[in-house]
Amino acid sequence: MNNFLYSGFEFKEDEDLLGFKFKMINSILVIVALFSTLVGILSDLGISDIGPIHSKVNYVYGIFSVMLIFLLRSSKTYYKKVANALLIASLITFTSALILVPQDEFRIIWFYLLIFVAYILNGSASGLLFTIASLGVILSVHLLSDLQLSQLAINTSVLGLIIGSFLSRFYTNKISDYENSLQQKNAALHVLASTDDLTGIMNRRLFGEVSKRYFETAQRDNLPLSLLLFDLDHFKKVNDTYGHQTGDLLLIRFAEAIKSYLRKSDIVARVGGEEFAVLLFETDMEGAFILAEKIRTLVESITIDHEGEKVFVTTSIGIAQHREGDKAFNAIYARADKALYLAKGRGRNRTCCDPLAGDGTQMPVHRFNVTLSESQE
Ligand code: GH3
Ligand code: MG
Ligand code: MG
Repeated sequence: MNNFLYSGFEFKEDEDLLGFKFKMINSILVIVALFSTLVGILSDLGISDIGPIHSKVNYVYGIFSVMLIFLLRSSKTYYKKVANALLIASLITFTSALILVPQDEFRIIWFYLLIFVAYILNGSASGLLFTIASLGVILSVHLLSDLQLSQLAINTSVLGLIIGSFLSRFYTNKISDYENSLQQKNAALHVLASTDDLTGIMNRRLFGEVSKRYFETAQRDNLPLSLLLFDLDHFKKVNDTYGHQTGDLLLIRFAEAIKSYLRKSDIVARVGGEEFAVLLFETDMEGAFILAEKIRTLVESITIDHEGEKVFVTTSIGIAQHREGDKAFNAIYARADKALYLAKGRGRNRTCCDPLAGDGTQMPVHRFNVTLSESQE
């Protein structure tokens, strides 16, 4: 049942209101389809006298609603169009009742329903538009032909319609304000939950999500993807000697140094206390190595003044690239971590690469990797 009312779509947590609107419009469309067809049948059977033309209008209204139910199932983005089509079809049907069924003294009530539904389904502008349209229809039919209602009944109806519309508008605006502020708060919370407090860069949680998407794209389009893992050298000693605050300052400067070399499509994250990750899209190991060495050299030049003494830090870097046969991003991460471990073992302040190329073949060691880095120690 829920699946039908949601037109077969899934609604995420932040689409709660849209999900409600889908339930609402589908319920209305089903009710319209059933009842307007029933009204047509009752008239054809002679049980209710609404005249042959209005009876046909009801059939068309019913069939049109069924078509709208199917149309809405083809795309979520059709919602507004379907809602407008339903409101216009309703306005035409109620106008037909107003003109063709004068024996029904209560037919103006349909316009109250129309306005209320317009506010709920399409918001305050639509509600106002259908209020004006309804008033226009009622007053012009009253002036041009005979509604067979007393002037007092017309006055009451118009006044009730205006007050009802005003109250609905007030309520809809409030709901839409609530929704907007909720969305803004959600977005702010998302940023807070995804950002590292100290350095302002992406945290491990968001990096997990983004890297998964990068991995899937690289896999699908067969594009190179490289991962750099950084771990500051002897950082515990820096903290112990110069204090945590100096350590924090170094971490901030370190993050800035990495960022200064990245392109828009590259991502950087703090994945641990003094561990950072950089993901390079459309970059192979060779490109990644050149960048890693630039960053490593820049980090060497960072100095922080601590009571007149210059404090500096170095970093070890492990690199791995996406390989054929990798099932998940974790596989690249594990290889970069191994390469980082290698860099630590070989004396720190150096870059080491996973020795296997993207296609799984052995990398020519002379081009880069351990030998090149070691020469810079
Ligand atoms: P190695 O070269 O082997 O990586 O040595 P290390 O001392 O850097 O390694 P270890 O993992 O033993 O120590 C990491 C240190 O990083 C421990 C901790 O004091 C420090 N650290 C972690 N998070 C923060 C932080 O947010 N601020 C500061 N100032 N230090 C941190
Ligand atoms: Mg560490
Ligand atoms: Mg460390």
